[in-house]
Amino acid sequence: MDREGEAITDLRVVRYPHPTLRYRSKPIRRVDSEFRAMVGRMFELMYEDHGIGLAANQVDLPYRFFIINLSGDPSQKDEEFVFINPEIIAKKGSEEDKEGCLSLPGITAVVRRSAEIEISAYDLKGDEIHWRLKGLFARAFQHEYDHLDGTLFIDRLTSTRRWAVTDQVEELASDYAGRLTAGTEPKEQEVLQRLARLEALRV
Ligand code: ZN
Repeated sequence: MDREGEAITDLRVVRYPHPTLRYRSKPIRRVDSEFRAMVGRMFELMYEDHGIGLAANQVDLPYRFFIINLSGDPSQKDEEFVFINPEIIAKKGSEEDKEGCLSLPGITAVVRRSAEIEISAYDLKGDEIHWRLKGLFARAFQHEYDHLDGTLFIDRLTSTRRWAVTDQVEELASDYAGRLTAGTEPKEQEVLQRLARLEALRV
């Protein structure tokens, strides 16, 4: 199996505080059949965990893209969107709503986000997208976009709301430390070496 093959089959959703969740992902320059297979696997993982969005960092990949299906329903293929090298061009207003994250299972909190956004990105066909989003779509886009810069929704909470989830966040950190000790999570240096190798393939 070559290294790229390894990257596809090894995909799993990583949990806080895995180092890749803090990694600033890099724009990709190549969309090919292998990339599309990677995206397909991400949709499977997202549906398994009952998510509506998943960023590349969350499956331990250093690439600048994410997927969204607001229905969370695998049979609704026309609701599946892939945003490659996305940008937020403009923001308007703000609103608060509850969010969760597959990398911080069990934790939800109210987050303030822009109410409307104007975005650009490339889709899987390589066509440029230029959309205005609002409501849940705008929220999901901003949440996933943050992931690509290594930002998590818990970083955007007011201090009171952050305090309210501190115990749960610390529990995740403690679970992670346990897996590191047990050798079921790779050490940070190994994670970063792998990301550099994957970047060299596609960035
Ligand atoms: Zn998330």
